[in-house]
Amino acid sequence: MTSSSTPKVPAHPASPRPTPREGEIRAEARTAVLDFELARRYQELDREPIFPMKEYQAFARKGWLGPRAPRRVGGPGWKLAEEAALLEELAYGGGSVFAKLVLQPEFCSPLLHASAELIDRWYVPLLKGELLVGNQITEPKAGSDAAGLESRAEKEGETYLLTGTKSEIAFAKDAQAAIVYASTSPGLGARGISAFLVPQDLRGISTETFDDLGERWMRRGTITYDRVRVPSSHLIGQEGQGFTYLMEELTPERALLGLVYLAIARRSWEETRQHVGERTAFGRPLASNQGISFPLVEDYARLESARLFAWQTLEHIASSEGRGSDSDAALVKWLSNHVALEALDHAMQFHGGAGYSRRLPHEQRWRDVRSGTSAHGTSEILRFVAARELLGTSSRARS
Ligand SMILES: Cc1cc2nc3c(=O)[nH]c(=O)nc-3n(C[C@H](O)[C@H](O)[C@H](O)COP(=O)(O)OP(=O)(O)OC[C@H]3O[C@@H](n4cnc5c(N)ncnc54)[C@H](O)[C@@H]3O)c2cc1C
Repeated sequence: MTSSSTPKVPAHPASPRPTPREGEIRAEARTAVLDFELARRYQELDREPIFPMKEYQAFARKGWLGPRAPRRVGGPGWKLAEEAALLEELAYGGGSVFAKLVLQPEFCSPLLHASAELIDRWYVPLLKGELLVGNQITEPKAGSDAAGLESRAEKEGETYLLTGTKSEIAFAKDAQAAIVYASTSPGLGARGISAFLVPQDLRGISTETFDDLGERWMRRGTITYDRVRVPSSHLIGQEGQGFTYLMEELTPERALLGLVYLAIARRSWEETRQHVGERTAFGRPLASNQGISFPLVEDYARLESARLFAWQTLEHIASSEGRGSDSDAALVKWLSNHVALEALDHAMQFHGGAGYSRRLPHEQRWRDVRSGTSAHGTSEILRFVAARELLGTSSRARS
């Protein structure tokens, strides 16, 4: 959005139980949104997709990369609710890009199981914004059913020989290293999968990138490993534990992503509210037609309800140290994504022809939020997770 077309919208609402610290975080985030012109940068990064290194490093200086990363490794050690407040403000002010920068080190939290040397070499610089670490799970033949991955890591002396192809991967060319999941014990399924920290400049690695619908700055792509020699010291934690490490962060991550989608949609909702109050057709404001006001108040109710569910789930996660909230977190992400997409679609529609163009940010927000139906657990897998816990069903065709 250009500053000349920026509508005056109210500040993002505080959480249901705000603390003074949350207020400070929100105020600092709002200042950053203005100082770094994040709304303008958001649209720029869609047109010219690159990794936003300048903002990434500025966020690192503020201690915003991986806010929950533990203090023992130099992380900020924030509470979950504090991170949620920061994400809401950044998503409200600057779309998905800047909230995802904050989350990236937490997506890499399996690294916390690595040796002290690996943490010092890769995780600490990641928190400082000095480098980028990606996550490579998905493969051409294994996505939702990630336990069916085919990449192999065979021990040979002091190295593992890594062979396989990873696809759909964010930062395919931009990450200096990645957490790569491969089987060290074929036949054991998920229990045979190990995680490795793989520098992306090792011999035998080739990459290509895609042209994506949204989140274009992530420059997703395919990475092929052709008998790549990974030092044994780059095994993260124990052999066969890769999947366990991966699952640990999923629950808070899903609840937080839900709030990101909702804050993005809330921004478009506020802008649309203003637009339909000002724009006239047939001699009266658009808002005076029930065909427009009813969908908008319904969106408001859905966005607010989903947000309360998300904050309640975050409270449960925080109070139970993450245990027992898997299905709620999965449903928060699914529901928030769904209601946000609907609200963003209405925002495009009620802005008429301009809503369908890149002059306004609604279509980009829709494209970016749309990634959430596939990334970090597809909409179908999220409901499997919930059905498994709430109804005792199984998602697997084979045992
Ligand atoms: C923006 C973006 C960023 C991403 N970044 C990364 C990344 O950095 N690293 C990474 O490893 N991956 C990444 N992914 C990949 C993502 O995790 C996968 O796309 C996702 O897990 C789905 O896997 P798939 O694409 O192989 O689809 P499939 O598993 O083939 O599924 C296709 C469709 O079928 C559905 N489906 C599957 N099984 C069933 C079933 N039993 N019943 C009903 N429906 C079913 C799925 O939900 C989906 O809708 C990213 C994806 C996106 C869109």
